[in-house]
Amino acid sequence: MRRQLAAVLIIGSLFSPTWAQVASSAANEPLLGFTAASSAQERQWEEKLKSIPDPKLLREYMQRLSARPHHVGSPYDKDNAEWILSKFQSWGWDAKIEQFDVLFPTPKSRLLEMTAPTHYTAKLEEPALAVDPTSNQKSEQLPTYNAYSPDGDVTAPLVFVNYGLPADYEELERLGVSAKGAIVIAKYGESWRGVKPRVAWEHGAIGCLIYSDPKDDGYFEDRTFPEGPMRPAQGVQRGSVMDFPHSYPGDPLTPGVGATKDAKRLDIKDAKNLAPIPTLPISYGDAEPLLKALTGPVAPEAWRGSLPITYHVGPGAAKLHLAVTFDWKIRPVYDVIARLQGSTEPEEWVVRGNHHDAWVNGAEDPVSGQISLLEEARALGEIHKQGWQPERTIIYAAWDGEEPMLLGSTEWAETHAAELQQHGVAYINSDGNGRGFLYAEGAHSLEALVNGVTRDVQDPEAGVSVWKRSQANRIHDAKDAETRTAIRNRADWKLLPLGSGTDYTVFEHHLGVASLNLGYGGEDRGGIYHSIYDDFYWYTHFSDTEFVYGRTLAQTIGLTVMRLADADVLPYRFSNLADAVNDYLKEVQELLKQKQDQVREQDRELDDGVYKAINDPRRPQVPPKKETVPPFINFAPLQNAADALAKSGDHYNKALTAALKASPQASQLAAINDKLLKSEQQLLNPDGLPTRPYYKHMLYAPGLYTGYAPKTVSGIRESIELKDYKLAEQEVPRVAKAVNDEAVYVEQIATELDKLAAAK
Ligand SMILES: [Zn+2]
Repeated sequence: MRRQLAAVLIIGSLFSPTWAQVASSAANEPLLGFTAASSAQERQWEEKLKSIPDPKLLREYMQRLSARPHHVGSPYDKDNAEWILSKFQSWGWDAKIEQFDVLFPTPKSRLLEMTAPTHYTAKLEEPALAVDPTSNQKSEQLPTYNAYSPDGDVTAPLVFVNYGLPADYEELERLGVSAKGAIVIAKYGESWRGVKPRVAWEHGAIGCLIYSDPKDDGYFEDRTFPEGPMRPAQGVQRGSVMDFPHSYPGDPLTPGVGATKDAKRLDIKDAKNLAPIPTLPISYGDAEPLLKALTGPVAPEAWRGSLPITYHVGPGAAKLHLAVTFDWKIRPVYDVIARLQGSTEPEEWVVRGNHHDAWVNGAEDPVSGQISLLEEARALGEIHKQGWQPERTIIYAAWDGEEPMLLGSTEWAETHAAELQQHGVAYINSDGNGRGFLYAEGAHSLEALVNGVTRDVQDPEAGVSVWKRSQANRIHDAKDAETRTAIRNRADWKLLPLGSGTDYTVFEHHLGVASLNLGYGGEDRGGIYHSIYDDFYWYTHFSDTEFVYGRTLAQTIGLTVMRLADADVLPYRFSNLADAVNDYLKEVQELLKQKQDQVREQDRELDDGVYKAINDPRRPQVPPKKETVPPFINFAPLQNAADALAKSGDHYNKALTAALKASPQASQLAAINDKLLKSEQQLLNPDGLPTRPYYKHMLYAPGLYTGYAPKTVSGIRESIELKDYKLAEQEVPRVAKAVNDEAVYVEQIATELDKLAAAK
């Protein structure tokens, strides 16, 4: 409630002349990529579409889909897929199930005990709650575990490693503590969970525990479930720890190809994306006695959670025994794929997806997104019956196997890779939904499209457009005056780049199909993620309880799909992409400078004896090692390429406006659209990123040590972060080539549009 009020007050101060101008000019202009006539017609159909999604039905779908646990391989997972299929068919879609067979391990045995200084056996069990009717479905619930942890039986001293990221181990080293030969315990958060066992292994650990500290999603934030929305003491976050950022997502046994019945499969021992050491997630109820037993240095202040203990890093007398075994079975995943055939350009595909599998009942993740997808499909089917004919083919996908690590989407897209690169216009993803602000990530060629759509969708709480509310939020959150001014003066707000952790990865990072990831949220906290408590009871008490944001998401993505399917010229805008490239260029230049300054200062302090002079002999710290100041890097090739893209992006904008004013025939635009849909692919390099050839996009990638969060121009940025300056220097021309190829490609299309305009 407070947050909502704050947002409304902010909006009152927004009506600066620049802002009003931008908003009104947008309303009078034709939609991006449409002629004036087709834009007017499109808007009429869009109004019809927006009126259809119904909160009552959204609620019914959620109750049905989350009624029982539905993880990969479970009876209700298949049952849900068949139900979704029947829904699509009843709405007039040509739908079918595509099955793939994937490696998905489930637990056979799990043991965690402290053997010294006292004995404690971890419960590893989430209790059913009397008020929550689906929490007692024990026989169908997957036990708490991390999928793709190896089997293992290890006994070792315990070390606390904060969030378990590389910087945490550097700090640990300064405290004189090593993780070598230890079992580490890391907090959930700040990264994709699979990064934690990976980094632990890099530092010599032999086992990894991951727990949810109450400071992050428990009682520190709000009351715990069922009194409030937060994680109760025995609640556990399940989840995959597949090492996909360093290797590849999808089925471990069929990298790069679809996991069809007769696909060639690797031996399990040769799969490259399994976690390196035994890993188990635990609750803070189980973590507390272990952390309490630790001695050694007191943990740095930023590491401490909110358990009623003093946090030490260890090691000490605390000794743990961790033993896990899994049933390494090939199991089926059922992707529901539904088509609405395009009328004039059936060979151009707009693809939209959200997964349907969950870790347990999954009302929020993924059902809250899946139900919006279903209402979009019903609405599109409805206006289709009323006479609307999409120009292009629309493909709706309810993916299976997202939770283990994007299995259904990756295997489908790998199976259809050649077709997707030939026909794929865009991929639009969602993965859950809640109350609040739109979060929008995506390929920057789609940034103007998303800005246009969100100007035409109303926020159900704030009484303004989703676009305005999002802009207000950005202004309010901006870190300084300069950033605020930039947001106020720019026609479009910026899309966040795509990281990973959900189904768009294969489309954007591997195949170069321009992708988006959209959803609402930010107003409600929750601590039920990947637990048995993420269910209908929780969602209807603590999240989008009226399902009005479910409707808003269906309207937002419904319009996005329609504009992509109907535009005369595909609605990409490359000047926005050029802006993003320019941002990244500045960021990596700044990053290098920061590194140089930091090493210079640190070396000076070492030379001057600063570390020695400030050392406390009772709490000694190891000084950092002396480093060589990072060399300068020649960014000129990328500067020139970014400049070229900015120029061709501007030329394209002018040429497009002129060409559309000349009201060209669809037949004259077919070749241009065919070319346009491959524009994102110009940003790929067939050899991929250094050390991970699966990821071929030179601008966007999941971070090696973040997973969820993106690293843009990763070849340059992550090489600088990892202090491999030689590699960073080598990567500049590779990124520059991709950007330059894109500039040349866009320039060619702009020239063809010029010809169309001149012909009239
Ligand atoms: Zn999900």
